[in-house]
Amino acid sequence: MNVAGELLLKPGKERSLRRRHPWVYDTAVASVRGRPQAGELVALRAHGGDWLAWGAYAPASTLRARCWSFVETDTIDASWFGMRVAQSVRRRVALAEATNATRLVFGEADGLPGFVADRYADQLVVQLQSCGAEAERETLLDALLAATSCTAIFDRSDSATRKREGLVPASGAVRGAEPAELLEVHEHGLRFKVDVRRGHKTGFYIDQRDNRRLAQDLAARLARGGLGAPRVLNCFCYTGAFSLAAHRGGGGETWSIDSSADALVLARKQWEANGFSEATARWQEADVFEALRALRTGGETFDLIVLDPPKFAASHHHVERAARAYKDINLNALRLVRPGGFLLTFSCSGAIDVDLFQKIVAGAVIDAGVDCQLLGRLSAGEDHPMSMVHPEGEYLKGLVLRRM
Ligand code: SAH
Repeated sequence: MNVAGELLLKPGKERSLRRRHPWVYDTAVASVRGRPQAGELVALRAHGGDWLAWGAYAPASTLRARCWSFVETDTIDASWFGMRVAQSVRRRVALAEATNATRLVFGEADGLPGFVADRYADQLVVQLQSCGAEAERETLLDALLAATSCTAIFDRSDSATRKREGLVPASGAVRGAEPAELLEVHEHGLRFKVDVRRGHKTGFYIDQRDNRRLAQDLAARLARGGLGAPRVLNCFCYTGAFSLAAHRGGGGETWSIDSSADALVLARKQWEANGFSEATARWQEADVFEALRALRTGGETFDLIVLDPPKFAASHHHVERAARAYKDINLNALRLVRPGGFLLTFSCSGAIDVDLFQKIVAGAVIDAGVDCQLLGRLSAGEDHPMSMVHPEGEYLKGLVLRRM
């Protein structure tokens, strides 16, 4: 392996690395020895000189280095990356029973900072979000092909994270054939259409799998409750994945709202591909903040409501404004839930932790003047794990409420 230099940390700044936290901030670095280039391998050392970790250097980023390994005897080469990727892929094997859409590598949580890989049937989609991952691009792509039976990889390295690392966006087929316009995947018996070129994230909200299943189960439970097929409202529906799951469970009418006309076109296609009747679905192109108020004025009520908005807080600076937005939609949605009905409410803002989110929703419950029980807290599926020493990796959180 080729060690390009060393980063010597300021006194006391070695503590987080000793706990195996993978990030080194620019403010923690006392000096750089050698002339490491972006993404090259460096040794991280405590002020006293103790070896701490092997990492990748990122000269333009506030995350000045991200660690690959905390084992000094590790040789960080192609076979080391091959092993890490193969282990990560193996950890997802059990999911194959439920779906062929899985996240195979989730960056820091899988010991490969900045590297994300998703699988949609036989198509792989990657995101290289750090200098280190970009520098190891060919190695990581080869490792991914070796660990799966796939031949095609599409690159969706177009996220804002790359900019912070001083990297330009990259998108396109990087191994094998161009992907089809729309791929089809299955999840718990439902069929979903995925646009890996233009879709959100890498094309689909893989992380909501378990929560879609919960929506299906709750709808099924409501249907068995004797009050007929449940009426469902899915806000920020994107391509309608929650709507499909809820309809499969309860068979009732679904009303889905999103501001993106393109997403709704795809939603209709998916609905049809699953053999569901057009008469049971209503797709509304609208702003959810306004639509919820209009639904109230119109006297509409629902048995199950899903609120899965985009990230309202991009960073800690936006928390207050985001909190007001979360409270607004939760308050207005709660007023539309029939007694005995459920609200599944989510936040994917990393800057808002689960306790704060619960406080915001509790505030909405109080202001809505309704009585609610909290039945559970939700998170991303197991293929989006969180490293116990890297809480920054947590983003998706949700609550299940029942109106009394
Ligand atoms: N629940 C979806 C993912 C939601 S992503 C799923 O499981 O697949 C967030 C969605 O919110 C996007 O589709 C975006 O178009 C939509 N959106 C963002 N702001 C909106 C607004 N103010 N009103 C309605 N839709 C909005």
